[in-house]
Amino acid sequence: MRLKPLPDTIPDCTAFEAGYLVTQNGGWRSERPVIDEAKCVKCRQCYLYCPDGTISQEISVDYDFCKGCGICAKICKPGAIAMRREADYA
Ligand code: SF4
Ligand code: SF4
Repeated sequence: MRLKPLPDTIPDCTAFEAGYLVTQNGGWRSERPVIDEAKCVKCRQCYLYCPDGTISQEISVDYDFCKGCGICAKICKPGAIAMRREADYA
């Protein structure tokens, strides 16, 4: 699916604009969001709702900063995001 162009005023990653992404803090995450590309409809709700702004407009997660809160999985109506055990990716 092709992404629609966004206005220049929308930042690529919300936390970068807010200055939050200073120290890598994903190390204590117990679960990580995993996106199923086949189910994703590119609605960008996860991008907008992630409290740490670690999902890009292209819908990829920056695991250096994702805390594993699961909000993105909750907000994703198509069910494209699953929270998986972090230990399985060590
Ligand atoms: S909320 Fe779900 S469907 Fe929408 S862009 Fe994010 S992963 Fe894709
Ligand atoms: S689990 Fe939380 S911090 Fe990580 S990408 Fe989803 S909403 Fe953002």
